[in-house]
Amino acid sequence: MDCYPMPRQHMIRTQIQQRGITNPDVLRALEKVPRHEFVPPDYVARAYEDGPLPIGHGQTISQPYIVAAMTELLRLSANARVLEVGTGSGYQAAILAELIREVYTIEIIEPLYLEARCRLARLAYTNIHLRCGDGYSGWPEYAPFDAIIVTAAPDHIPQPLIDQLAEGGRMIIPVGPQGDYQELWLVERVGGRVKKKRVMRVAFVPLTRHGDGGE
Ligand code: SAH
Repeated sequence: MDCYPMPRQHMIRTQIQQRGITNPDVLRALEKVPRHEFVPPDYVARAYEDGPLPIGHGQTISQPYIVAAMTELLRLSANARVLEVGTGSGYQAAILAELIREVYTIEIIEPLYLEARCRLARLAYTNIHLRCGDGYSGWPEYAPFDAIIVTAAPDHIPQPLIDQLAEGGRMIIPVGPQGDYQELWLVERVGGRVKKKRVMRVAFVPLTRHGDGGE
């Protein structure tokens, strides 16, 4: 049983719509996905708060507004195939899975990958494909992708991800050193050219590589 429809609707109205997110498909996905199922037991009562929450291993589930804004920026069509780097709890992947055909998501920390895989199977998502590994190199076997969303911050835009973006595709990625904030970039592949635009300031955990402190 879903005990949280009211907090979820309140979250959508006060955190998402009031900040200018209007895409009806994105709003519907946020209404459908039970965010409280994606946080650790101790945080269930805070699942609909206006901020990120810890999910263990020093990682976080992103603030609902950031999930909504990044998803809207991707301008997804229903038959899209999308790559996510940084599965974390699996919440962003579930939001995507409500909107599009296939989601491919990569997580570098094995316990988080295993937990997300179990959670998404329990919630009956059949169009989310998970992999444990370093998402810096993307997932070439399934490329190109109509959209790519990166939910951990590298200090530059990984070239393999640009290479795996389909013609007309959009990538949204936080870039910058750890500190107060990073810049969220929108990368578009149009007519064989790559266009990059800064969108807003965000704060993400770092994109780690195997061997530099990532688990
Ligand atoms: N999208 C997530 C939140 C992401 S937190 C959600 O909806 O809950 C960022 C995640 O990226 C963390 O789980 C972190 O372990 C993972 N990560 C960091 N570097 C990575 C890399 N190189 N490849 C894949 N995942 C990475």
